[in-house]
Amino acid sequence: MDTRRPTLISVVLPAYNESEGLPVVVSSILHALANTGFAHEIVVIDDGSTDGTREVMLDLCAKQPSLRYVRFSRNFGKEAALSAGLRTAAGDAVILMDSDGQHPPALISVFLDKWREGAEVVAGVQNERLESWTKRRFKAGYYWLMQAGSHVVIPPDAGDFRLIDRKVVDAINALPERNRQMKGLFAWVGFRTVLVPFQPEPRVAGVTKFTWRQLFKLAFTGLTSFSVVPLRLVSLTGLVISSTAFLYGCYLLFEHYVVGGRVPGWPTLAVGMMFLSGVQLLALGVIAEYLGRTFEEAKQRPIYIVAEDSRVKSPPHAASP
Ligand code: UDP
Ligand code: MG
Repeated sequence: MDTRRPTLISVVLPAYNESEGLPVVVSSILHALANTGFAHEIVVIDDGSTDGTREVMLDLCAKQPSLRYVRFSRNFGKEAALSAGLRTAAGDAVILMDSDGQHPPALISVFLDKWREGAEVVAGVQNERLESWTKRRFKAGYYWLMQAGSHVVIPPDAGDFRLIDRKVVDAINALPERNRQMKGLFAWVGFRTVLVPFQPEPRVAGVTKFTWRQLFKLAFTGLTSFSVVPLRLVSLTGLVISSTAFLYGCYLLFEHYVVGGRVPGWPTLAVGMMFLSGVQLLALGVIAEYLGRTFEEAKQRPIYIVAEDSRVKSPPHAASP
């Protein structure tokens, strides 16, 4: 930590079409920050909103010098917005929060206390999820699967509401991958982590911005970026099927030569062929998923494109990370 200047706390808010709730959320966070006594800034990353978030934010920025507004050229997703926030934030500690008011600002001072006591990461753990039963089950299954094939411990209910120390921010910023799943990356970099349970609030306004399609995409990214279990499952399935086929072959030979019975005809063949082509397609799909990931990384495209930054006078046209 630099001792020549006061300690700075940054709050990063990814926002996608949150214009309705943003003023309330921003002001309650500013209030909570002011109470901590630290110098602070709030960085709002507009993930390609189409609902007037820009006007709302520019208006707030004009009144509040500690606000910074960065707008993406299109919707790149929350993970990209968090990545941009971590790169933009200048704080000695950076707090990531949702901009819909679900993460209570009252926790900021609790997080800061833990940080001062020596935690390098303070992660909020939802002790109740305000999501549908199906979504909760789906997420629980997913974390189980992800954990099964990963060397790093990923606390299941620790989401993106967390405080991270500058050295953790630098470690994450230095990671080169483009397919980002922040929860996995946080776990991967390690550091001393303290978990703080919290009760999520209902959204201030609007509805969830995540569709099932996006959640599946994120789940696949997480699985294939942090685990080789799907690949191993493919080999294992192949092994099981070929051994079964081999044993069945032996049985058929035995039946033909020893028992002298009739060899079963086309139904066995048809079922076998269909089953095997299904397994082959599945295996190809899993391998393609990894190949696709490598392809995405090889293209070396930026994670996001910044179209506007309230702290930069002439907006860069293709500023990239
Ligand atoms: N978000 C984003 N880009 C997206 C989707 C969501 O920046 O493509 C932001 C959103 O504005 C919110 C946070 O990510 O601040 C969490 O999203 P949401 O509340 O919709 O998700 P949920 O709380 O339902 O998991
Ligand atoms: Mg939310």
